[in-house]
Amino acid sequence: MTSAQNSGITVIGAGWCPHCKRVKKFLSAHRVSYRNVDLDEQPAAVDRLKELQNGGQIIPTVIYADGTHDVNPSDEVLVIGGGNAALEEGLHLSEFARRVRVLSKTDLTASSLLQDRVKSDPQFVIHTGVDVVELEGDHGRFAAVVTRDRETGARHRFPAAAAFVFIGMRPNTDFLGAEFERDDSGFLVTGPTMQTSIAGVFAAGDVRSGSTKQLGSAVGDGIAALLMTRRYLEAGHHKAKVLVDA
Ligand SMILES: Cc1cc2nc3c(=O)[nH]c(=O)nc-3n(C[C@H](O)[C@H](O)[C@H](O)COP(=O)(O)OP(=O)(O)OC[C@H]3O[C@@H](n4cnc5c(N)ncnc54)[C@H](O)[C@@H]3O)c2cc1C
Repeated sequence: MTSAQNSGITVIGAGWCPHCKRVKKFLSAHRVSYRNVDLDEQPAAVDRLKELQNGGQIIPTVIYADGTHDVNPSDEVLVIGGGNAALEEGLHLSEFARRVRVLSKTDLTASSLLQDRVKSDPQFVIHTGVDVVELEGDHGRFAAVVTRDRETGARHRFPAAAAFVFIGMRPNTDFLGAEFERDDSGFLVTGPTMQTSIAGVFAAGDVRSGSTKQLGSAVGDGIAALLMTRRYLEAGHHKAKVLVDA
């Protein structure tokens, strides 16, 4: 078992089995703990496989905490979206999955560098001009994505182990009212002090127009906005002592 907190997952496999290694690598990379049952060391575990598979003995078999199981989980994953985030995530996933299928409703919009890397990588299959119209489940878990070709209307079903959605962000700024200046995508326009177009209202992080959408810069924005808020309050707008500490 890995050192992380117990997830209740058991992987029945064998040291010589490449698909077992792939599944365990995926779990480890995502810090999901599992109990490793190696058939060569614990041959009696084959009885559990037969019980789960109506006599079958396929490995790897992954048994989850709720008692459900997967027999040789699919080594294909789907990435929905065609921008930088989608392709970056796809490249990361290609370390664990045999195939990464990218589904994008337009042509890819990621940087040409990322597009070149993905297009030249045989692990990737790219579908552009498709709408995702359905996510299918099986016994309460994700099973497949159904797409419709935007030109022909043809539908395709793509079974996969998982789907990762990177289709952009819509900032939750509607509650602020129309007087706040926004960019074309609805992100709040701020000046160098993080102040919005309304005096005394500051914005920080992803919601800011032009922000890098990265955790580190969001935290930095937050600190800057806090300091600027304190300066604003101290500038005489409020009489009470300001106890904000950055
Ligand atoms: C899948 C994914 C992977 C990512 N990976 C990375 C990475 O590897 N490295 C990296 O640097 N960044 C990564 N990011 C980006 C990073 O998560 C964001 O940049 C960061 O979380 C932005 O912080 P934030 O506080 O601005 O916004 P958020 O983290 O989105 O926080 C906004 C908060 O405001 C709350 N909220 C919204 N509206 C209201 C309201 N009206 N009233 C009260 N509360 C409200 C929301 O519920 C939320 O809790 C990733 C993002 C995603 C989605």
